[in-house]
Amino acid sequence: MKKQYLIVLVFAGLLTVFNACQKQNGAAYKALIVTGQNNHNWKTSSPILKQLLEQTGLFSVEIAQSPEKGGDMSTFNPNFSKFNVVVIDYNGDSWSEKTKTAFVDYVNNGGGVVSYHAGDNTFPEWKEYNLMTGLGGWGDRTEKDGPYMYYRHDSLIVDSSIGRGGAHGKRHEYEMNARNSEHPIIKGLPKRWIHGADELYAQLRGPGKNMEILATAYSDTAKGGTGRDEPLLMTITYGKGRIFHTALGHADEGGGPALQCVGFITTFQRGAEWAATGNVTQKVPYDFPTQTGSSLRPDFKVLTFEDDLTKIAQYDISKSTKYYSDLQSHIRYEAKTPADYQAFEKQIIKVLESTEATDDGKKLLLREISWMGSDLSVPVIKELAKNDKLKDVAEYALARLQPLK
Ligand code: ZN
Repeated sequence: MKKQYLIVLVFAGLLTVFNACQKQNGAAYKALIVTGQNNHNWKTSSPILKQLLEQTGLFSVEIAQSPEKGGDMSTFNPNFSKFNVVVIDYNGDSWSEKTKTAFVDYVNNGGGVVSYHAGDNTFPEWKEYNLMTGLGGWGDRTEKDGPYMYYRHDSLIVDSSIGRGGAHGKRHEYEMNARNSEHPIIKGLPKRWIHGADELYAQLRGPGKNMEILATAYSDTAKGGTGRDEPLLMTITYGKGRIFHTALGHADEGGGPALQCVGFITTFQRGAEWAATGNVTQKVPYDFPTQTGSSLRPDFKVLTFEDDLTKIAQYDISKSTKYYSDLQSHIRYEAKTPADYQAFEKQIIKVLESTEATDDGKKLLLREISWMGSDLSVPVIKELAKNDKLKDVAEYALARLQPLK
């Protein structure tokens, strides 16, 4: 028995190492982005979507580029079954029957799909695809394709009235409204948040079967909208497959605010993981937007606490204090226990002790440590109080950290 137990332990240990290696290589899951034709700028969006998926550390990503519009689609045969999730950044010519069948088989057998922005415009004639996306727009979609679906207050309205599918007004920032905060994709996100300037898809219609609406936004008539709460984030099940449908993310040259929005990025990344696995392990990022304002990542990268600290150590206070406010967000959002605060504090102490860091940088960090620091910081602050330029801030920090001493 003992020996067997040992073998199990060793095996479990090896598995852990194996999983860790896989994650490190970003190869736990495989994603395929299907692109190559779109009324949108797919040459911009597809590489960005690839980068966003890779950033999670969960996906290795390949891109399947179709022939150009009007080209020979019989040559386009991605091997869907190799992948855990297929992202549709495509709005163009019909696929061959062979490719369509392979895609339906893939989803039926449990493959994941993410329909991104105009991914719900494509294939108006392909019934199975419309069952997967739930709702769609444009492409002469009308009442024949299914009802309109939207919210009025807290009620889902299924509206079979006659009319075209798909519309949007001018691009603008708008408020997202979470409709089921228990769903893994949006669990932990605020109930409402401001989305970066984007098209607000409206009047989508389709079969809407096995579909759950995760978030809506109010389509304001003042912005050319419908006056309804329109569904923008959905999940659908088809066979054994899971589909995440995001209507967000209209791409400008270089990306633009709709793609840079941390709300878009986070729901896309989490939606892809859910579609691939049925689960979400990604934490809500510290810079997720709130109801008071949007939050953008112009270079699509998350700034770490260490990035901020490195920049602050070289600070010239007359320049931007962006990194300082970002550092503050990290601490406010991520530190939950005294041990978390101390981990941040220890890193700050290193910069305060450094002879390389600027006085301006140290001033900001002294201010920060005055509210979140502990006795650990006292020796270095006392040392800094001997520096004429830092004396005032250092004494202020000491007074806050040791009010009774
Ligand atoms: Zn668009």
